[in-house]
Amino acid sequence: MRNDMSAFLSLTGAPYAEEPTSGPWIALLLLLALLSMAAYAWLTTLKPWRRRWLSAEHRSILAKYAISYQRLLPEQRKRMERIVAAFVYEKDWQGAGIGVADEMKVMISACAAQLLMGHPRLVLKHFDRIIIYPDSYRNRRTGRMHHGEVRPAAGTILISWDDFVNGYAHTRDAHNVGLHELAHALWFENMIDNGEHHFLSPRFLADWRREAAAEIARIKRREPSFFREYAGTNEAEFFAVAVEYFFEQPLEFRDAMPRHYALLSGMLRQDPANAVLLN
Ligand SMILES: [Zn+2]
Repeated sequence: MRNDMSAFLSLTGAPYAEEPTSGPWIALLLLLALLSMAAYAWLTTLKPWRRRWLSAEHRSILAKYAISYQRLLPEQRKRMERIVAAFVYEKDWQGAGIGVADEMKVMISACAAQLLMGHPRLVLKHFDRIIIYPDSYRNRRTGRMHHGEVRPAAGTILISWDDFVNGYAHTRDAHNVGLHELAHALWFENMIDNGEHHFLSPRFLADWRREAAAEIARIKRREPSFFREYAGTNEAEFFAVAVEYFFEQPLEFRDAMPRHYALLSGMLRQDPANAVLLN
């Protein structure tokens, strides 16, 4: 019986295999497969370029909420959009008990862009993960409450969304947790040997460290300082606090400490008191 069936199959199969119309079909299928592979390769190659540009929705969030973006000239806006796009698309965004909305990604990226406008090629690549908490959270290791944090060993920036929004709701009080944490990330990034380091001018940085050490000593002696007391904690905190004043009270900073302001301007390659970029 099996032999009969084999014979039947070979008999019925044979004429089909030799149908003159099957050749073009195979060729068409092959052509389609090749076209799909070419389209995939093209899209994959194109992706990094496409990702440098923000979507219309992202741009409208920037235009609506980001004060630093609204204040820029049109040609400077393009630069900011490129930095924001790099952060929005290249960072691993995670929510801790909160969904990560586009507004969160765009606004935290805009904060990074505000800091990096003078160094537009930087993406703080060591910090590839950004974790957003709904509000202040307790650090399990220290037991303390935090508004934000930078963990260089894990390449992670943590931020409380409620505190982040608060920072930008009061633009003149020199308290801005977004700028503070991203300034910490920038400070570490400059030291981590990863091809994106030593971007802060060594000459300016050396002078700035001398000025900072003197001011930290003054704060520790409880002498009057332009900066709030927390700046006296250590050099890294001093830098982060100075960045908050730099962007939120630039005129007062420049008047109170012109040399220190000029050094920070040189390091960040921008002068917010005069609303100009220095590169
Ligand atoms: Zn800090």
